[in-house]
Amino acid sequence: MTGSLSEQFVLGIDLDGVVADFYARMREIAAEWRGVPLDDLNRSVTYGLPEWGFVKKEYEDLHRFAVTQRNLFTSMLPIEGALQAIRRLAELEGVRVRVITHRLFVSHFHKIAVGQTVEWLDANAVPYWDLCFMCDKELVDADVYVEDSPRNIKQLRQAEREVIVYSNSTNQEISDEPGGRAHDWKQAELMIRDRYHRWRSEEGRSARTTELRPKGDHAAANVHSDGGRDDRSQRRDDRADGGALAQVRVGHQRQVGETTPEG
Ligand SMILES: [Mg+2]
Repeated sequence: MTGSLSEQFVLGIDLDGVVADFYARMREIAAEWRGVPLDDLNRSVTYGLPEWGFVKKEYEDLHRFAVTQRNLFTSMLPIEGALQAIRRLAELEGVRVRVITHRLFVSHFHKIAVGQTVEWLDANAVPYWDLCFMCDKELVDADVYVEDSPRNIKQLRQAEREVIVYSNSTNQEISDEPGGRAHDWKQAELMIRDRYHRWRSEEGRSARTTELRPKGDHAAANVHSDGGRDDRSQRRDDRADGGALAQVRVGHQRQVGETTPEG
């Protein structure tokens, strides 16, 4: 079957701070939580939101409130240009979009978090085929990653994965190289295209060999909860059965209670 995963360039994209404007929406909700004017909360935040006075336990309470009572994951605006760039890459180039997000770091409302995530992705017409809820993103295979979290960028680099830094206030201390830094989605798209065309050249492909969409009309969702298996084995599984399924994978956080505001 054409369009098997072995013939596709996989783009691993983070959501919060890369595709969805997490910090802008959280700023609104945090202002409500604090009972302060929006302007009292600095737009330039860092990991853990210390600029807004949050410590770990209170951040978890805020996060739970934001998701369960203010529909955080369905009420965020897309980051400018993200949706159109991703659609061009998927629909015109045949890039396989694999969403890799760490949104399940606070326990006991995963159903809501996953449901809101899927709803937002569909409502914004994001052409993804794989949806992975993972803490350790380097365990999920991709040809290039776009990520804003310093921790995730470091881990991907340590695993020798190619990662483009999506620039925001949380990652200014991270070096641009080796993967480069995109300051907006125009730059990110160009950088992804550059890698995609390099991959195509290295693979000896003179023209796109993948189909825009898999044949058949089913898009079954598989939920994986093993959380530790290298996704390359998953790719082999997909090749073997020739399926074209939208994959959903759920990974456990590496440490129970580990808190991060970034997905
Ligand atoms: Mg992020």
